[in-house]
Amino acid sequence: MGGTFDPIHHGHLVAASEVQASFGLDEVIFVPTGLPWQKLDRQVSPAEDRYLMTVIATASNPLFEVSRVDIDRDGPTYTIDTLRDLSAAHPDADLYFITGADAMAALLSWRDHDELFELAQFVGCTRPGHELDENSLVGLPVDRITLLEIPALAISSTDCRERVGAGEPVWYLVPDGVVQYIAKHGLYASESSKGPHPS
Ligand code: ATP
Ligand code: MG
Repeated sequence: MGGTFDPIHHGHLVAASEVQASFGLDEVIFVPTGLPWQKLDRQVSPAEDRYLMTVIATASNPLFEVSRVDIDRDGPTYTIDTLRDLSAAHPDADLYFITGADAMAALLSWRDHDELFELAQFVGCTRPGHELDENSLVGLPVDRITLLEIPALAISSTDCRERVGAGEPVWYLVPDGVVQYIAKHGLYASESSKGPHPS
């Protein structure tokens, strides 16, 4: 499951758990992106912070792992590179790439999309507010794509960042350890809400 995870939230975790259960997957590997090329227009938190929050959020689940392949590769992250690296690391595995319906709709614009479908089965999770337009799948190989409805969890990382910036709580939207990590490292706090530095 690829994502910016800035921060990881319960929507991501529920989606991963649902896909794991419905496909009987051996494990779900969370792959925080390096530099997400679709998000170059906004400040993305340091990769190491996003990686550590993902580790904290997934640590208690024996079926969840976190991979550094994207954050350790230089340059913008392309899913084709993620899948090439993961299939090299797991040569006998059947790979499933879990993504949101919104990202799925943009799939045709992804680099080398023919090879993408050779490397993995794609699972598109529907999420509230991002209904998938079936027309956006025209031209994609239907046998390599499965859509899965995820119980409605209208949480987004954008919303979590805005809440922290406004001094509003993110308890229960993200795992407790992630709430504490955000506070400890002052992530997402707007300059005005950071308050004076302790002297
Ligand atoms: P941002 O608001 O910064 O775009 P995000 O909440 O969309 O963040 P990403 O890290 O971009 O989180 O998401 C990684 C993947 O998880 C994407 O494919 C996205 O569609 C999916 N996803 C995010 N939130 C949910 C949710 N609540 N339910 C199901 N899938 C989700
Ligand atoms: Mg997103």
